[in-house]
Order: sequence, then structure tokens, then C-alpha cells
Amino acid sequence: MHLSRFPRVHLAHLPTPLERLDRLSKELGGPEIWIKRDDCTGLSTGGNKTRKLEFLMAEAQAQGAQCVMTQGATQSNHARQTAAFAAKLGMDCHLLLEDRTGYTEQAYRHSGNVLLDVLHGATTETREAGLDMNAELEAVADEHRAQGKSVYTIPGGGSNPTGALGYVNCVLELLHQVNEQSLRIDHIVHATGSAGTQAGLVVGLKAMNANIPLLGIGVRAAKEQQELNVFNLAKLTADKLGCSGIVGREDVVANTDYVGEGYGLPAKDTIEAITMFAQLESILLDPVYSGKGAAGLIDLIRKGHFKKGERVIFLHTGGSAALFGYTHLL
Ligand SMILES: *Cc1c(COP(=O)(O)O)cnc(C)c1O
Repeated sequence: MHLSRFPRVHLAHLPTPLERLDRLSKELGGPEIWIKRDDCTGLSTGGNKTRKLEFLMAEAQAQGAQCVMTQGATQSNHARQTAAFAAKLGMDCHLLLEDRTGYTEQAYRHSGNVLLDVLHGATTETREAGLDMNAELEAVADEHRAQGKSVYTIPGGGSNPTGALGYVNCVLELLHQVNEQSLRIDHIVHATGSAGTQAGLVVGLKAMNANIPLLGIGVRAAKEQQELNVFNLAKLTADKLGCSGIVGREDVVANTDYVGEGYGLPAKDTIEAITMFAQLESILLDPVYSGKGAAGLIDLIRKGHFKKGERVIFLHTGGSAALFGYTHLL
């Protein structure tokens, strides 16, 4: 695995810590739970998009872009991390934010990630729910290009083969950590949305022949669609790395039982997971992604799917800034 063939801006705080969660493990009485702290990647409260953006923004720089554009939901962590990256690199940033939840609360529309977008100097425009947002993004980018600006567009969630390299890289980092500490790992669990995180992880795990099952907990799409999205992106990512064909359809597993009413709408067990992590481990989850991922982890431990004697790593993908957009539900 030779990732230094690809341009990369080293701005993330790496390696992120790997910590054992003693109080949560004891409370649940099942496997030993560890956490990979990708909520601590630096840059404006961190999160998983930072690893992807190290590769994406390097590509933008290599193309001489003055402006970077991306899209996401109103409280998008990806949009906020892109705005932060652009500020640090001296580029303009324009964001298209989709109203996927219909929440009208002042905090939801203006605090949390939205506040940080503005603080980092990004400009924003909004869209109603249900449009093809990547198509909207390209249309707006073309308008700017027509005015002579060089624009680099990043798809929602930074999920393309370039962005997924960030999570191939995460596998190398994580395997180094567990091997140094002689930790045998039985499962890795994380929240999966636009698919780039899981695609990068599955490619990295297969390429390294790690033999560790990976489970994505869905936050939006139905199981079949989510697994297909991840699988398709994993295949493209493997092609980019020159190891085509290493990922099989059966390597991609998602559980979408914890989505609740829909994207961005926390369920009862999402809130329970956020509260447990905050009160037992002083770790801040978020209401859209990591709270649902952790709800899945907790329920699957209670159901005996993850067992005593096993060791599970929960990859914390970040998102705590969104808590401040959801005060009405917390
Ligand atoms: C984007 C995001 C995810 C999902 O990652 P994908 O690569 O989009 O699947 C998970 N957690 C948080 C906090 C995120 O912002």
C-alpha cells in the first residue's frame, strides 16, 4: 500500500487516539469496547471528513482551484470541515445546504455547523429537500466557471475514490496501533452515510488482509441500497489503488435498523446513546451519525450479536458541533 503516490495536504491531527471504554463496556456487560477517536482530527472540531479532505483538497490545489464547492444537509459536518480546510488553504468556499429535516428552529438553521461555516468565511445557499444535490452543485459551479473562476467541486460527504483514500489510510494507522498494543480485534463498527468512510475502510482491510469484519450502521438509505453504494465506491477505490477486484459484495455489510424516521431525525435510541456516551465516557456523539451508529452498537451488544470475550472498535466519526443545532431535542 503506497498512498504517498497521491497528493495529500497534511492538516489532520494524526494518529487519532485509540481508547478503551471501561465504563461503557461494564454497563453493557458484553464485549470490550474501544473507540477510535476520529472526532479528534483537528480543524474546527474534527470529524471523519478531514481525512478525506486531505486528499481532496490536495487535488484541488494541484488543479489550481481558487474556490471549492460542496453540498450537504443544513447541519452538514462535511460542509463545515470543507469550509475550515478552504480557510486554512486560502481558498474561497461555497456551500449548498439542503433542508432535509424541515426543522425551523433558530438553532438548527443558524447554530452548530452552520455557525462554523459562516465563521470560516464560507458563503452558503439553500435548497429544498429531494433535489439531485450533486447536479445542483455542478450547475452552480458552472455558473461560477462561466465568470472565469476556477472551481473544484467535492461530492456530498467527500465520497469519491479520492476522498475514500483517507479511510484506506485510517486502516493503516489503526492496524499499526492495534499491532503495537497486541490487541486482537473482532469487529469494527461505525456510522455509514455517503459511503466513503466504509468504502475506504473495506478496501484498506482487504488490501492488508486484516480479516476483521466491518459493520456500517446506516443513517439514511435502506440496507440493500446502502451496501450497493459502498460496494460500488469500494470497487472504484480499489481500481484507483491498482488492486481491482479485492472487495467482494459479501465484504460490505450495513445494518440500517437504527435510521429511525429518517436522515437527520434522531430516534429515542439515538438520544439514549448520546446520553450514555456523555455520562459514562465524556465522549460527545452527534444526533445524525455517530449517535445512530452508537445506538446500533449498544443494541447489538444487548442482543448478544457482539459478545463477552470479544473486542469491538467503534470508529467515532465526529459530528459534535451538530449538537448545538439540535438543542430542541436534547
Ligand atoms: C459524514 C459522516 C458520517 C458518514 O460518513 P460517510 O463517509 O458519509 O459514510 C459519519 N459520521 C459523521 C459525524 C459524519 O459527518
